Amino acid sequence: MSVETIDKQYSKLAAEVDAFNTTQTNPANLPIGFHKVVTLRGEDAGLGFYCDACKLHIVANAPSEVRHCRQVSVAPTGWLARLRMKTRRLGYFRSRI
Ligand SMILES: [Zn+2]
Repeated sequence: MSVETIDKQYSKLAAEVDAFNTTQTNPANLPIGFHKVVTLRGEDAGLGFYCDACKLHIVANAPSEVRHCRQVSVAPTGWLARLRMKTRRLGYFRSRI
């Protein structure tokens, strides 16, 4: 019977988590960037934000400037850009697996 040190166990576990994380690409199918958000009841919940690179997700009422990926994303202010924004309706969590 071989005995592994806790360091080896940890590095093995961390490698497995890293490998799993690299396979994850937006499983909840969130709109990328700023998007409009309404609650389950249809109430306005401001803007949401999601970055597929760093996985930062602000579910609702996001600020107009979001710092992530060593940059600042600014919410579009033009009416046309707002019109084109996707709307995410908050709902119950449903696993796709
Ligand atoms: Zn990011």
